Amino acid sequence: MDTILVANSGSSSVKFQVFATGPDGGLERQVRGQVDGIGTHPRLRATDTDRKVLVERSLDNQTVPDVQAALIAAGNWLRDELRIAPVAIGHRVVHGGPLFERPVRVDSGVLQQLEKYVPLAPLHQPYNLAAIRSVLARFPDIPQVACFDTAFHRGHGELADRYAIPQDLYAEGVRRYGFHGLSYEYIASILPQVAPEIASTRVIVAHLGSGASMCALQARRSVESTMGFTALDGIPMGTRPGQIDPGVVLYLMSEKGMSPADAQAFLYHECGLKGLSGISNDMRELENSSDPRAQFAIDYFAYRVALNAGMLAAAMQGVDGFVFTAGIGENSPKVRAAIAARLAWLGVSLDPGANARNEQRVSRYESRTPAYVVRTDEELMIARHTVTLLAPGPHPSQYEKAS
Ligand code: AMP
Repeated sequence: MDTILVANSGSSSVKFQVFATGPDGGLERQVRGQVDGIGTHPRLRATDTDRKVLVERSLDNQTVPDVQAALIAAGNWLRDELRIAPVAIGHRVVHGGPLFERPVRVDSGVLQQLEKYVPLAPLHQPYNLAAIRSVLARFPDIPQVACFDTAFHRGHGELADRYAIPQDLYAEGVRRYGFHGLSYEYIASILPQVAPEIASTRVIVAHLGSGASMCALQARRSVESTMGFTALDGIPMGTRPGQIDPGVVLYLMSEKGMSPADAQAFLYHECGLKGLSGISNDMRELENSSDPRAQFAIDYFAYRVALNAGMLAAAMQGVDGFVFTAGIGENSPKVRAAIAARLAWLGVSLDPGANARNEQRVSRYESRTPAYVVRTDEELMIARHTVTLLAPGPHPSQYEKAS
């Protein structure tokens, strides 16, 4: 049985999963793990599919100083202690820019192209690519596949893809890309099984996690997203504000003396639920707090999600189904109820019992717009892409030029 390693490399952690490929092309998850605390106190932790802990140990900060070394350390542990030698690695890469409309096998030319998108996602792209680069240097024979958060949205029409700014900026890549594409693609792939009545209709998917966005799916294709050029736009997140007047950023720089780096750190790390509540970026903590600022942050979150649902409904000229996913969407009856209450005018009516039990269908039988909770699985999506791309046979060309 072959195994595929899936890697999601960030600034201070590398999350990884191992999938075994079955003879029928199916994929079975075997290991979930991560190295976190990179740069300070790196720790390796992994569990099997029954959540049994396979390893939990500190790593030497000198030997594992960065994300590259962390991925190699995880690979060594898999090989030495579990006898797992992956035949390929699928990587989450946040930005595929205007060029990459689908996953791609990475060679040095592709890597060079992807480096150009570092300024478009400075907090994620460098680490995603560093991991790929180090494997390419040490194990050039292991095929690596880059799967992009932007790719699923690349089919957007020009109206959805543009800002009202001069054409030359659009040509150089200042576009409304949209993110969380691997999550939306997975949801779109399983809608026919989990929600057949809405699968081929107009569906709003709300990916509500620490990062959050929403996507308009028409017949399972993305036609509009709340995120744009970067993953700052759209609805509020744990520490990011979501949509904000660019004038506020100018004010921070001109009146508050913030440099571009200061403004970047502020917008990515100090805003959203954290900034608004002054308590926490974590929805669970806010729900458990009796501080009125926590309740306000939850109300605000639900309000902005509902406002954006109106925008996405307008993009599709209606909506036939609503899907909640990711940490908050999958697990918080309270937030789902607060959002649904604001979507009554769009025909959403939750069944309080089904919602409290986190059932798959959370709307009443008579709800004009059915609402579902669907667990997302971005890692499985990456593993699927990796297997498909490396299977023998014809594949679409690596580069798909966007106009
Ligand atoms: P994610 O980034 O998808 O892992 O989602 C993380 C977010 O989901 C955090 O804000 C968590 O507080 C939130 N979350 C996870 N479980 C629950 C829960 N049972 N109730 C409310 N929020 C939750």
